[in-house]
Amino acid sequence: MSKTILELDNVSIRFGGLTAVDSVDMKIEEGTVRALIGPNGAGKSTIFNLITGIYAPTAGEIRFMGSKINGLKPHVITKLGIARTFQNIRLFGEMTVLDNVKIGMHCRTGAGFLGALLRTPAVLAEERAITENSLEALKLMELEHKADELAMNLPYGEQRRLEIARALASRPKLLLLDEPAAGMNPQEKQTLMSMIRKIQAMGLTIFLVEHDMKFVMSLSDRIAVLDYGRKIASGSPAEIQRNPAVIAAYLGKEVV
Ligand code: ADP
Ligand code: MG
Repeated sequence: MSKTILELDNVSIRFGGLTAVDSVDMKIEEGTVRALIGPNGAGKSTIFNLITGIYAPTAGEIRFMGSKINGLKPHVITKLGIARTFQNIRLFGEMTVLDNVKIGMHCRTGAGFLGALLRTPAVLAEERAITENSLEALKLMELEHKADELAMNLPYGEQRRLEIARALASRPKLLLLDEPAAGMNPQEKQTLMSMIRKIQAMGLTIFLVEHDMKFVMSLSDRIAVLDYGRKIASGSPAEIQRNPAVIAAYLGKEVV
């Protein structure tokens, strides 16, 4: 029996006169890879911003493992088990690879100012846990051997994998990836694909926004298609590829 991990129930958000996400329903089953595709400006990143608490929906409800999460703060949602990467690279180039991962976790430590200052045993234990989780995440992304290098010295494909490692360090159950393969060469895409499969095999659920159709079609269990904020189709990769509305709104443009 498959279990729903994330549910969007009639979710909308308006920015002034623009309805960026319009009455979207979605159910993602635990352990699967779901893709969200559609033209630029369709509302894909906005859906990620809604799920992670950056925006609150104007209407509708978002449920994670059965509980409503819309209205919660981003760090609370991270703690519940949702992590993400961003469409544009967000790394600190002058910091080491390891520190770039650790910084993603420091914002969620329980150590108060005084504890941090005095370096109490509890704080030291927490520091150790952060380093361990970070190294483990780097290992998953096959970057452990680069832990001490500066982020800016990594090739582009590895910088993007570093961002995924940062997201994984919080030990999420659901991982949102916003255009992870953008700008990658075919070799880098191939490597990333096998790593995403590996993460899925560990039991994580993946929600993927991506324009590369080969990438999307070979990784996804199911695909949802967004156009002008509305979900115009959902189904298996084969169903989506032959859906006339999808071809008209999105896939057709690729062929042209
Ligand atoms: P996609 O990721 O599918 O390319 P986005 O989700 O980034 O699209 O954007 C969807 C629409 O919502 C766009 O028209 C965008 O300009 C608009 N939008 C997104 N965020 C905001 C915001 N904070 N304020 C106003 N408009 C926004
Ligand atoms: Mg986007």
